[in-house]
Amino acid sequence: MNRDQMLKEMGLGPIWKLRQPPKKKRGAMDEAASAPVDDRTAAIAAMGWDELRSAVAACTACELCRMRKQAVLGVGDAAADWLFVGEGPGAEEDERGEPFVGQAGKLLDAMLAAIDVKRGENVYIANAVKCRPPNNRTPEAAETAACWPFLARQIELIRPKLVVALGKPAAQTLLQREVTITKARGIVHDFSGIPLIVTYHPAYLLRNLPEKARAWEDLCFMRRTMATLG
Ligand code: URA
Repeated sequence: MNRDQMLKEMGLGPIWKLRQPPKKKRGAMDEAASAPVDDRTAAIAAMGWDELRSAVAACTACELCRMRKQAVLGVGDAAADWLFVGEGPGAEEDERGEPFVGQAGKLLDAMLAAIDVKRGENVYIANAVKCRPPNNRTPEAAETAACWPFLARQIELIRPKLVVALGKPAAQTLLQREVTITKARGIVHDFSGIPLIVTYHPAYLLRNLPEKARAWEDLCFMRRTMATLG
């Protein structure tokens, strides 16, 4: 797919301007997430997909469980090379039980098309928290911490070649530190030996159209990075 075709796929033709790609900085310190290993964490760390799905569906580890219609584990190829991690389910995701099925999901699908990836094929899509935060607020630290063992296990089971964090909450959850998207993008971070790239959340891009040019740079950077991974 050439650049113009990609832009068309993303529905962004007139907005995008290809700029110099961000410089890849390697050799960042080990930013792998770590969590205290309590009994619950240890039990989740030993689960297979079926157990994990049941545990997420029945989870009451934080307050978000009280407002959900259903927990949203994730969707896609369980042996995918690509893993995209968002923030948490919104109203439509809560209703349908699948991540990124609303407006932001349409843009995410277009972003995936730009890197020759299709939902369900060689990509897994998950969220930092599996239950919808009320009024689509940002998940609180205690909520992402409670949900972290599930995401960590998903990553262990999938063993993707590349993880993409969509937005600040996902990036902070995966890198286990405060980040700004501006500083974190354009760098290959390390997540327990798996390369990790940070980009904007699609919902943010819908509200901030000029940033789509930067997201385009990030997509090019992802493609180039994936091409280097064996
Ligand atoms: N935003 C997210 O971060 N995740 C979803 O699943 C939907 C919207």
